[in-house]
Amino acid sequence: MRLSRYFLPVLKENPAEAQIVSHRYMLRAGMIKQASAGIYSWLPLGFKVLRKLENIVHEEQVRAGHIPMLMPTLQSADLWRESGRYDDYGEEMLRITDRHKRDMLYGPTNEELITDIFRSHVGSYKDLPLTLYHIQWKFRDEIRPRFGVMRGREFLMKDGYNFDLTKEDALHAYNRHLVSYLRTYERMGLQAIPMRADGGPIGGDYTHEFLVLAETGESEVFYDSEITDLKFGDRQIDYNNVEQCQAVLKEFTSRYARTDETHDEALFNQIPEDRRRVARGIEVGQIFYFGTKYSEPMGATVVNDKGERVPVHMGSHGIGVSRLIGAIIEASHDDKGIIWPEGVTPFHCGIVNLKQGDEEADAACEAIYDSLTALGLEPLYDDRNERAGGKFASMDLIGLPWRITVGPRGLKNGVVELTSRRTGESEELPPEQAIAKIAAIYGLAQG
Ligand code: ATP
Ligand code: MG
Repeated sequence: MRLSRYFLPVLKENPAEAQIVSHRYMLRAGMIKQASAGIYSWLPLGFKVLRKLENIVHEEQVRAGHIPMLMPTLQSADLWRESGRYDDYGEEMLRITDRHKRDMLYGPTNEELITDIFRSHVGSYKDLPLTLYHIQWKFRDEIRPRFGVMRGREFLMKDGYNFDLTKEDALHAYNRHLVSYLRTYERMGLQAIPMRADGGPIGGDYTHEFLVLAETGESEVFYDSEITDLKFGDRQIDYNNVEQCQAVLKEFTSRYARTDETHDEALFNQIPEDRRRVARGIEVGQIFYFGTKYSEPMGATVVNDKGERVPVHMGSHGIGVSRLIGAIIEASHDDKGIIWPEGVTPFHCGIVNLKQGDEEADAACEAIYDSLTALGLEPLYDDRNERAGGKFASMDLIGLPWRITVGPRGLKNGVVELTSRRTGESEELPPEQAIAKIAAIYGLAQG
């Protein structure tokens, strides 16, 4: 993409309404624009990151054996009356009446709709296990939308639902989700710690929230510092293997890590004092086993191998896709702007031309642009007729992890400059070597 032809409405001033750094930088980098309280338009740069996160989520869900689909945003109130949640949900639910005076709602989540789909089409234990998911906009009429996309009213969520014959099978689905979430967040360059959370009215041990540690997080968290040493890494997991998934769950949840709702001071105090941490975190996902809470009242049953009709065991599992962008920025920035992890960066590399209009510099930039593009990478080429300082400031703000700077002086010696956004370190290299280095960073072999 050439910046002269892109739409990147960068702001010089700090927007007064933004209280936290991710909100500030998303507005300043031209990623989002507020449409109304807690509702945002996704401008091209923000939309690009959102799509990247969605892709990672899709890939990891499919890898775990889960099946993508799409349910609508608007739902009929009748289904929610069956589960009893139409009255229970309260003011967070946006209720709408259509022209025929039918009660509708903008879905805050999808347990009822998916259970209805299940009961209409699945009748035998032979069709299980089954996990369906979608990535769809949700609406919750939050009393205090704030922090930009972090607590919006309209937000993008991946929500998945497992259907299993027995509690045991459903707990495997739970473990499988935990494993796939660990992989998902790590691919986004994030450490998200599974913490024991509140089961709410359902109770039980079977819910974990995934938290990214950040001072601006809305949740208070308590944990054993050893847990931050755990990495999922590139280990190979067979998602059908019950023991393997269970072992990962055990490894990642056996140390103390809880949100304030489930915090137990006495247990916490058993951790050696130097490892006790009290901090804040951003909830970027939650997994849940809730048994037959929806299948029973809604009649989602299957016939088991003894010919008996039994309600299915279910769980639901959510990832806050749009909130994750805020969380990534909170975890990865400096005073100049965002620093995107390579896995989610909107463009792989920036190209800054120090002297637009200089024949040699222009030609060198074009050649680098073409080579990177031919490798399947997306460079952002700042080809505007602007001061170098302004170009650097924009690049730093939008946070591309790598920048190639091209100017007449370097070209005389046959070199360009390759700069890491994260460390600020630069090296001078011939253009081909800079390209090869970028290709290697993104795991591409040059042909
Ligand atoms: P919170 O406690 O932050 O209100 P929640 O526990 O009600 O969230 P879930 O029902 O667990 O939310 O939804 C799954 C995920 O969706 C959450 O982990 C979070 O990342 C994201 N999410 C929930 N509410 C919002 C919101 N208002 N804005 C953006 N993302 C949200
Ligand atoms: Mg939650």
